[in-house]
Amino acid sequence: MTQQPTPLKTLQHRIDHSCRQAGRPDGEVTLLAVSKTRSADEIRALSAQGVTDFGENYLQEALAKQPALADLGLTWHFIGPIQSNKTRDIASHFAWVHSLDRLKIARRLSEQRPPSLPPLNLCIQVNVDDEASKSGVALAEVPALAAAIAQLPNVRLRGLMAIPRAGATDNNQAAFRTLAMTLSQLRHTMPGQTAACLDTLSMGMSDDFETAIAEGATLVRIGTALFGPRHVQ
Ligand SMILES: *Cc1c(COP(=O)(O)O)cnc(C)c1O
Repeated sequence: MTQQPTPLKTLQHRIDHSCRQAGRPDGEVTLLAVSKTRSADEIRALSAQGVTDFGENYLQEALAKQPALADLGLTWHFIGPIQSNKTRDIASHFAWVHSLDRLKIARRLSEQRPPSLPPLNLCIQVNVDDEASKSGVALAEVPALAAAIAQLPNVRLRGLMAIPRAGATDNNQAAFRTLAMTLSQLRHTMPGQTAACLDTLSMGMSDDFETAIAEGATLVRIGTALFGPRHVQ
């Protein structure tokens, strides 16, 4: 009897293959397992297979699951919309925030980051499609926001994140390329002080991560391809 590879094995194989095709070394891309709607047991099972980084969109849901998983030493990433009355809990219970789109929120996160913890890692969420809709800052606003965040003591700007609009015919290649170029420009306009920290391009999900890796993603956010379809609540 042949054994089916696990979804994680299949996914890792696809990630490695995409890296090789892009001429990038294996292991350059971090897998962020997006665990919204998944139980603590499902997260524990994936952790047992070696996954260390988990992403949550809803604060209350994350806070409910985290205590049962505290023994695993997981790295938690917040990837959902942020209301200002939630910043204290986010600053206390996560290592990363990918969905930063306002200076006011960055200030609160920095002020509320517990002194016992290392700086909170931040990515600015960019609205790469420049649609009037959705979350994320417009491309033109990225440099000023990045410069302001770089002054805050208890957060560390690590890079950029995007969720391109669904259904693009190029599998979001143009959007990913724009985000990669924007990060590269930011590295040039913010020399010295923070350049070494701008190492993260958080882009690519289950349907488009291979394209994102070809365009330079350093972290892919994967839910469905790891856990199966989400049950709508
Ligand atoms: C849900 C979600 C993902 C994962 O989506 P899949 O298509 O299930 O891989 C990635 N990033 C964000 C911000 C999400 O909300």
